[in-house]
Amino acid sequence: MEAKYLGDLFLAELDTMDYHSFVKKYSTKEGLRITLIAKDGEVLADSDSEGRLENHRDREEVKEALNGKGGFATRYSKTLGKTYCYSALYIENEMFSGVIRISVPVEKINLLNQSLVHSIAAVSLFCFLVALAVSYVLSRKITKPIEEITEAAEKISDGNYDIAIYTEEKNQIGRLARAFNQMTENLQETVGTLVKRNIELEAMLSSIHGAVAAIDENGIIMFYNVRFAQLTGNPGKDYLGCQIYQEIQNQAIFEGIAFAKNNQVDIMKEGVWGEKSIRIVVTPLADENKILGMLIIIEDITKIRKLENLRSDFVSNVTHELKTPLTSIRGFVDTLRNGAVEDPKVAMRFLNIIDIETERLSILIQDILLLSEIESKQTPDVESCNVNKVIQEVMELLGPKFMGEVKLVTEIQPYIRPYYCNSDRLKELLINLVDNAYKYTEKGMVKLVCKESDNELYIRVEDTGIGIEEEHLSRIFERFYRVDKSRSRKQGGTGLGLSIVKHIVELYNGRIHVESQVGKGTIFETRLPYERGESGKAGVDR
Ligand code: ADP
Repeated sequence: MEAKYLGDLFLAELDTMDYHSFVKKYSTKEGLRITLIAKDGEVLADSDSEGRLENHRDREEVKEALNGKGGFATRYSKTLGKTYCYSALYIENEMFSGVIRISVPVEKINLLNQSLVHSIAAVSLFCFLVALAVSYVLSRKITKPIEEITEAAEKISDGNYDIAIYTEEKNQIGRLARAFNQMTENLQETVGTLVKRNIELEAMLSSIHGAVAAIDENGIIMFYNVRFAQLTGNPGKDYLGCQIYQEIQNQAIFEGIAFAKNNQVDIMKEGVWGEKSIRIVVTPLADENKILGMLIIIEDITKIRKLENLRSDFVSNVTHELKTPLTSIRGFVDTLRNGAVEDPKVAMRFLNIIDIETERLSILIQDILLLSEIESKQTPDVESCNVNKVIQEVMELLGPKFMGEVKLVTEIQPYIRPYYCNSDRLKELLINLVDNAYKYTEKGMVKLVCKESDNELYIRVEDTGIGIEEEHLSRIFERFYRVDKSRSRKQGGTGLGLSIVKHIVELYNGRIHVESQVGKGTIFETRLPYERGESGKAGVDR
């Protein structure tokens, strides 16, 4: 390039400058050695030597230039004592035809190369640093929103849905951030709805009287209500995810689950849970033919069963109690019909027995009716009842009985505040207690105490009778319970008296207490509150 440029320059300036001036001028200017060589190899001028130089026809670069090619060579110059790089070019016009050769010492090229390498290194380093900075800025621009999205996703996975990513980017990242915000909003809404529905469901489940649990097809508990935890006897335990077969060992429940699973129908079964009677309903949970699990409802029916048993016991007791006097009446009627009627003495005795049995039947039926009436009453009839007057009536009714060996003693407060109740019920209560005291006392006295005490109507009936053994005390208030059956019958007892008393006491939220010593006597104490707030403590005190 340099040779071509100097060649053209030389040909252009030839007419104004001689050979030596040209090589001198441009050698200094360009920092090169310039040689002009004739076609025959004679050196016409050389910038670095003044003397005549030998013919250069054999120089490699000159040979190549004369052959029309660009000539290049690196060689030691004996003339100048240095290694040079030569570049020669054939040039010609009407005034000159020959070769222009330029040469540079190799050490200078090396120096040039070195400085070039340094420059390239510096530029490369600069470019590298610029590229690094630009790529950092660009990557920050891209990665920052991604980092924000990642952080937001982590927060969502921790259950925090109230987050949004702020970006003004319009590119893909911006779209991603906006889609993410939309997704978070939807998620928040969905989760909110689910939480609300869950609360409603839980409220519904806990208000259900029975124990409820849902299990998946493998028996894992998916949800349950408070009563379920109470029934299992470990209310504090978290049963979610537990295996029902490990938590509950109940034959009836297992059978129910197996049946509902195998037949895909609801099943209702009854069984026992310790001391409790339970009813189980198992319903398969299915979604478009896919079995999701089972819903199990367990109800405690102990009370219902007890009531049913009580009722059936009561019916059989009543039947039995009715049967005895009826059989007796029937027998005596038959005997009379078969001839006893002819004997007036015998006939009279039999008729008396029939009369007693009929009376017993009538009392029994009256007591049964009374008991069922009291039991069926949810709220008692109340009126302002003159207690002193009721006591007076009871004395008039039962007083005549106490003519023999048993005396009636009373300790009645002269004025007792009116008690709000059904006066017939209060009368029943007093009659039953005083009549019992009379019936089970052979000698001595029966004492009736009645007063107002601590805002309660206090009634005490004590006797000096046969007393009741400790083991019977807790049972005497049961229907038809008698300590001595034949004695009670003989006395005209129905076995319902104390049961009626207990029900009346409970009707008015009162309490009854019994104390007895065999052979010494019995005390029944009744307390009926004037203010009937709660019924929690009502019943028999033992
Ligand atoms: P009954 O009609 O047989 O008297 P109650 O229910 O009134 O039935 O009484 C139940 C049982 O309690 C009686 O059969 C009797 O054995 C016992 N009893 C009740 N009151 C007394 C009492 N004052 N003294 C001794 N035993 C009594």
